[in-house]
This record gives sequence, C-alpha cells and structure tokens, in this order.
Amino acid sequence: MIVDGRKLADKIKLKIKKQVRAKNLRPGLGVILVGNDPASEIYVKAKEKACQEVGFYSRKIVLPADTSQKKIISSIKELNQDKKIHGVLMQLPLPRKFNQEEVIKAINPRKDVDCFHPFNIGELALFKKEINLDQILAPCTAKGVVKLIKYVDSQVRKKVVVVGRSNLTGKPIALLLLALGATVTICHSQTKDLTRETKRADILVVAAGKPRLIKENMVKKGAVVIDVGINRVKGKLVGDVDFEKVRKIAGFITSVPGGVGPMTIACLLENTLLLTLSHTRPDVTSGRYGMKTIIF
Ligand code: NAD
Repeated sequence: MIVDGRKLADKIKLKIKKQVRAKNLRPGLGVILVGNDPASEIYVKAKEKACQEVGFYSRKIVLPADTSQKKIISSIKELNQDKKIHGVLMQLPLPRKFNQEEVIKAINPRKDVDCFHPFNIGELALFKKEINLDQILAPCTAKGVVKLIKYVDSQVRKKVVVVGRSNLTGKPIALLLLALGATVTICHSQTKDLTRETKRADILVVAAGKPRLIKENMVKKGAVVIDVGINRVKGKLVGDVDFEKVRKIAGFITSVPGGVGPMTIACLLENTLLLTLSHTRPDVTSGRYGMKTIIF
C-alpha cells in the first residue's frame, strides 16, 4: 500500500489553518536562502506557498552565493529581532565554503523552527519519558517521517532501521523514534553488510541520498518503508528506494515525490505555530536549565 504523504500533510495544514483562525494568530516564518541552487529555490517557494495557504506571514531573505559568512549571520540576527517572525529557517545545505554550524548557532533557540540549534537538538536527545509528537519541537523531516509511520501503524515500538546518520535527517529521525520507544539501528556508508541490517527491519527509513539504493532483496516482507531521499536522475525525481520493485515486498511504502516531502513542509508549519504559541504563552516554556526552552 502506498502511503499518501500529501493527504496527511493536507490534514495537518487544515488543522493549523483552523487553529490560526480561531485564535486570531499571525505566525511568521523567516527564510534565508543563499545562492541559486534550483532544488533549494523550489523548496523555499513551496514553503512560502504553504505559509500563504494557512494564513502565516512569511519573509524571505535571498543572498547571492558569493555573500559572506558575516552577512548570513547578520541576516539571521535581523530575523531573530523581527517581532513579526516566530520561526527562522536557514535553507540547508549551505554552499560548502560557509561554516554551517556557526550559522545554525546564530539562530535564536526560541525561533529555531528546524530544531537544529545544539540547544534544541540536545533537548531532544535528553528526551523526557513521554513525548507528544504534535506538541514537541523536532526537526521537520524527522517529525514528518515519524508522523507517516504512526499514520500507517500507531505502534512505533518495533525494530526500526534508519539508513543515514546525517545531522539533517538520519540522526534526528533515529533520536525521535528512540524517544518513542522504537529499537533503532542506524546504518551509514561504513556499515559492513547493509542488507543484513535492513532485512531485519519492521520499519525501514532510508535517508542516504543515493538513488534506488534499497532493492527488493534488502526488505523484509510486509515492512513499512519510508523513503526520505530526493535525487534527480535524468531530470526525474527518484528516492533512495527502488520503488517499483520494493512496493511488491513492502506492507506500506512512501513514494518520491508525494511522501516525506509534503510532510516536511506540514511539520515546518506546525513548528512555526508551536513557536508562536510559546511566544504568546511564556508560562508553558519553563526549561530544565532555568532558561526558557521551547519544548513544552
Ligand atoms: P547526507 O549526504 O548528509 O547524508 C547521507 C547519509 O547516508 C550519510 O550518513 C551516509 O553515511 C549515508 N550513506 C550514504 N551512502 C550510503 C550507503 N551506500 N549505504 C549506507 N549509508 C549510506 O544527506 P542528507 O542531507 O541526510 O539527505 C539525505 C537525502 O534526503 C537526500 O537525498 C536529500 O535530498 C533528502 N532530503 C529529503 C528531505 C525531505 O523533506 N524529503 C529533507 C532533507 C533531505
């Protein structure tokens, strides 16, 4: 069965739209885009469009590829101080010459809508016993992946294999699933026998950025397969899973496009709304270190 990410994303967006109207809110998302990578430009456009759909304010700062690290950081600070902005998003990855870690650290943790600031990702790693997926600030793609899994099978406490260990996708996906009780194995480019690991998975999440890496002989019959990868092959978008073959083995499978991508955007909107609410309701944000945190 193909899991329709667009359908679930639309449901989430509708819920957000209703909440924004009912509470008369105007959540604001600020996005910084560096350079003119066509894929990044498409993602940013989709994010702006989604903001419009649900009644959010959005602001975009576009900097040329030859901009300086200093200019990127000063743009982030500008959005940090903008009262109309509740979530600040740096479109990643940045061109290689920039220091991505330093840029992420410049985002105010209380506006860190993608949850990549070391403070927020640290909070996620130190998860509390019970976490409510709809109420927690977590990286958007990771949240989208877990919501898709729960959509098809509310029981996450299974054997999950995540292929990929990047800070953007694999690691936060694994952290979130671990927090929800899954038994998680993380594989990466140095894993010796990938097939042996993936074949054991009840739930297989692939975020490797390698077109059609996962073949049908690597998947357990009836497994839930979530494909995070977005690769362009001969002008066509394909995932990290050999979709046509693996769909015959899997119990549930996501497609590319139409799977995780729309869920990432829906969760970006959800995170922006959560940050907006945390700004207007400081009572719900008392933190474990005596400073205001955004996990509530
Ligand atoms: P990355 O290159 O930073 O990380 C890839 C990871 O995969 C690494 O940990 C690497 O060790 C592992 N890997 C690579 N080849 C492997 C192999 N042969 N076997 C096992 N592991 C292998 O990439 P990323 O930023 O994490 O993105 C991964 C993919 O997800 C990309 O295709 C990207 O475009 C896509 N992506 C999708 C969304 C979305 O919303 N759907 C969001 C972000 C990224």
